Amino acid sequence: MNSQIKKIAVFTSGGDSPGMNAAIRSVVRTCAYFKKDCIGIYRGYEGMIEGDFLPMNARSVNNIINKGGTVLKSARCDEFRSPEGRKKAYDQLVSNNIDAFVVIGGDGSFTGALAFYEEYKMPFIGIPGTIDNDIFGTTYTVGFDTALNTVVEAIDKIRDTASSHHRLFFVEVMGRDVGHIALNSGVGAGAEEILIPEENLGLDRLLDSLTRSKARGKSSSIVVVAEGDRTTGKNVYELKEFVEKNLPVYDVRVCVLGHMQRGGAPSCFDRVLASRMGVKSVEALLEGKTNLMAGIIDNKITFTPVSEAIKGKSKIDKELIRVSDIMTI
Ligand code: ADP
Repeated sequence: MNSQIKKIAVFTSGGDSPGMNAAIRSVVRTCAYFKKDCIGIYRGYEGMIEGDFLPMNARSVNNIINKGGTVLKSARCDEFRSPEGRKKAYDQLVSNNIDAFVVIGGDGSFTGALAFYEEYKMPFIGIPGTIDNDIFGTTYTVGFDTALNTVVEAIDKIRDTASSHHRLFFVEVMGRDVGHIALNSGVGAGAEEILIPEENLGLDRLLDSLTRSKARGKSSSIVVVAEGDRTTGKNVYELKEFVEKNLPVYDVRVCVLGHMQRGGAPSCFDRVLASRMGVKSVEALLEGKTNLMAGIIDNKITFTPVSEAIKGKSKIDKELIRVSDIMTI
């Protein structure tokens, strides 16, 4: 590694996700391994502007691999959207001799880093940390797998009470623009129907499917709905009313899982993914690379230009829709 880079900053930004700590730990320890200084920045771009920095060494990240959330905290920062805000951030980085950074976050955080690069040529690498898995250039984002496990565990519990009372539950899960969480957790928890923004199943199909379930004597029904799904034109509460009106035989309940999906100890998969991405990100910076986002494709750590990652759209696995259809026979 023949690099001018001597000090690397790391921070988490935007929405948090389980596994961010494992990514921080990996970046810090890889810096230590290559004898580079490492600085943690608290609260994302807000802390960068304010100079809220913490020198970190290999021991600063003891016992955090198993913790949810982010020890460096996260924030949304409007000031960084302005050239004046970014100038303040740059001055802070320069006065602390920071040569490059690793940003762990979503596409908003990467867009900010790219704007910053265009003005100040500060090298950076992005690690995708979000439960939604909605980032182009990687099959999995850090936090997605943990969120799926959390959702499946919750639905299993809802299923217990649903079947005791012969109830139908609409379970709303996170996913504003994409249905990855809904589709995967729906298949994993054996949902009767899965409503996602990418695929318009229609209300008729929902009624048909629920009618068939009842006729086959199923003791409970779970319909998983991505929060961003508007393909039926109805949110979960309106869906409940609609089914009660059209299929009065059903006793319907709604459960919105909400922010619990973002918490919890990261799964082993997310810890390993974050560890691999952290190592490769620091190595990439030391090899003189910049403006790239780490990803995992075919179980290999890859890099995609951030300009492409923020423009592209991640796609759901259509095969899973077919699997779900066959499973609900
Ligand atoms: P996420 O990274 O999870 O997508 P946000 O979209 O909230 O989260 O973005 C996180 C932060 O990144 C914002 O609060 C802002 O500071 C910065 N950011 C987002 N978009 C831009 C932009 N176009 N220009 C500069 N900074 C941005």
